[in-house]
Amino acid sequence: MTAQETIDQILRFEPDGMPVVSLYVAVLPDGSVHTRVKSLLDEIRPLAKDQDHTLEHDARLSIRGDLKRIIEASTEERWKQGMTAVFSCSGRGFFEEVSLPRALRDRVVVDTTPWVRPMLAILDEYHRMFVAMVDESSAEVWELYLNEIRQVRRLRDPALRKPNFAYGKQEHKVHHKAEELAKRHYRRVATVLNDLYRAEGFELLAVGGHPYEVSAFTAVLPRPLRERLAGTFSIDARTATPADVRREAQSIVDHYERDEERRLVAEIVEAAAERRRAALGLDDCLWAGTLAAIDRLAVQEGVSMPGVVCDRSGWLALSGETCPLCGEPTRPSGDIINDLVEAVIDESGSVEHVATDTELRTHVAGALLRFPLPPRPQT
Ligand SMILES: [Zn+2]
Repeated sequence: MTAQETIDQILRFEPDGMPVVSLYVAVLPDGSVHTRVKSLLDEIRPLAKDQDHTLEHDARLSIRGDLKRIIEASTEERWKQGMTAVFSCSGRGFFEEVSLPRALRDRVVVDTTPWVRPMLAILDEYHRMFVAMVDESSAEVWELYLNEIRQVRRLRDPALRKPNFAYGKQEHKVHHKAEELAKRHYRRVATVLNDLYRAEGFELLAVGGHPYEVSAFTAVLPRPLRERLAGTFSIDARTATPADVRREAQSIVDHYERDEERRLVAEIVEAAAERRRAALGLDDCLWAGTLAAIDRLAVQEGVSMPGVVCDRSGWLALSGETCPLCGEPTRPSGDIINDLVEAVIDESGSVEHVATDTELRTHVAGALLRFPLPPRPQT
């Protein structure tokens, strides 16, 4: 199954009254994942036991099965570095794992549906791109998603070989015929690609081949595909290896992502300058995060900063021993930016980690808001 198919299954799954265990765990190179999975599952173990009568018997049995299956998976499988999300409902024979390229906080949740929001928030930052490699008589379609590439389709159409000895009228005729066949071929590839787009809804498209083939092909693309065209590249489709395709495709996606980051930062900076609903700088963003006011958050990739959290009111700040909202003592946090990211995701906002060089480097965080912020309480 492809990553997309697995994700679709999780989103479509209906547990029909049975509890679903959703577990998110960071996979680090230190091999600590198994121990952390076990201690996460200890949080929900009481639900599987008889003394707790808040759940029906079959629901308890289902959770017991989930605990066993998840422990097995974390012991026996080799999870890829990043984050693994597991969704299990053994009472309905459901078990899915997704490997995510970026880690959030370890967490486990038992609910009546799969808890997908963190997964979707992470996936938000990755673009699913289809890559069409074309020449005059054949084509390959590849998919690049979550840093992996796979071949989706291959097709071949009849082509006229150019004769070695042809002259005058004859040559013209053969040439014309070859061009006709190539055109027909490009139209057919475009149709196949359009069908794939309708069925799979990929976000971006890249086209590779010799420059004259690429321009002949992109000329016949239907409009929805042309709108998704993120870039083209020059390559000899016949001799290209999967590694070549991957490198070219990845560079187009990276370029697209940097553009997207720049656009978002520019939008935030402009909105903040015009005093529209925006926050610029960590102080204001933490206050906005406390109030669940953030619609889109941009944070500088790779930056972390200590801060304080109030677990009762959700207060996030850089410092202060007492929460100004409820008076409780605050808890120190090693990375308040990460707490902010989690808070935004919990309130259905989206997060963009900005790796490229923009104004955000000096501000660290910026956000588009759902409503204007009231003044921050004094600490
Ligand atoms: Zn508080």
